[in-house]
Amino acid sequence: MSGTINIGRLFGISVKIHFSWVFIFALVAGTLAVSYLPNAYSGWPTPQYWITGILASALLFACVLAHELSHSLEAMRRGRKVTSITLFFLGGVSQIEEESRSAGEEFWVSVVGPLASLALSGIFLLLFLNFRDGNSSITALTQYLAIVNLAIGIFNLTPAFPLDGGRVLKAVVWKFSGNEGRAATISSRVGSVIGFGMIALGIFTLFSASRYTGIWLIVIGWFIQSAAASVRNQQDSTIRLSGRVVRDAMREDMPTIEPGTSIHALVERHIATDFERAYVVVLGDTLQGLITVTDVKRVPLEARPFTWVSQVMTPASKVVTLTPDAPLEDGLGILARRGFRQLVIMEDDKPIGLMTRAGVVRVMEVSNILHRESRSSDTKA
Ligand SMILES: [Zn+2]
Repeated sequence: MSGTINIGRLFGISVKIHFSWVFIFALVAGTLAVSYLPNAYSGWPTPQYWITGILASALLFACVLAHELSHSLEAMRRGRKVTSITLFFLGGVSQIEEESRSAGEEFWVSVVGPLASLALSGIFLLLFLNFRDGNSSITALTQYLAIVNLAIGIFNLTPAFPLDGGRVLKAVVWKFSGNEGRAATISSRVGSVIGFGMIALGIFTLFSASRYTGIWLIVIGWFIQSAAASVRNQQDSTIRLSGRVVRDAMREDMPTIEPGTSIHALVERHIATDFERAYVVVLGDTLQGLITVTDVKRVPLEARPFTWVSQVMTPASKVVTLTPDAPLEDGLGILARRGFRQLVIMEDDKPIGLMTRAGVVRVMEVSNILHRESRSSDTKA
């Protein structure tokens, strides 16, 4: 996510805040100090309302972080890598590498978040019951945090993918059907229905009861339904790609260059005429490395006649390669996760082609057309 700042590390996970969180922090603190607290607790000096409001907002932040952290720690306990947690205006996201490998894993990694929020709510409720007769900041804080954690727990259990509850639903369908793809499709459909339902309810509320509640319902409903739709799109392309191998998207006429060529010659005699983005560096038929336009751009103009391809290229030992029979999804996964534009395809220790993003897009587009054709012939039959 762009627009985030790093605030530190917890259990080896970097914790980031999206700038939208700053507004929520101020909004929560302000609403509490100006409206909620003065209504519920009278007779405090004004600074106490503000200090309590700011404290409540900070503790809410810690509670949302604890919710996210529980997802991350459960995923790490199951051997998955977690790179970061980002808090933004609707809560948080844990950046967990790879998808769940089993329904059980999906279930537990998803359900621990809402359980953590419900547990926090219980703890604050017990504290509140202990201090309930007072008129102090502690009474107000424990009451507020018991309520919001309960709300966070329940909201996240809504069976609307990609909320935690939707993932739990996906895990349950996955467990009983044995088909992860079907489970994702079903739970994201339920997510869309709930999202649109919230939008409809929001519009209704907007004109009948509370304008603010209405707007919030519409915003959250829209967020849920668009996230569900993007999950479904991704699912559709995975289905269309499944069964395809890297060879289907590979170009065999890969541009090559020898390691002893100067950068100047590479630009003048090759890039300037054939406009390729990347060249496979070969000596005979052995892979030496990969050089891209980005690598070339880093060499200053005046140094180009005296700089060789071998000095600037990514050496063969660091070039990510795949075999032509690897599943196309794997190739696409590497391109997407590592931000590469191309992968070198190797067979019998020799480079035989390049798999590029453009190549995968072409395969997907053509399969899309065929997919539509077969669908329209289905309806005719
Ligand atoms: Zn969660």
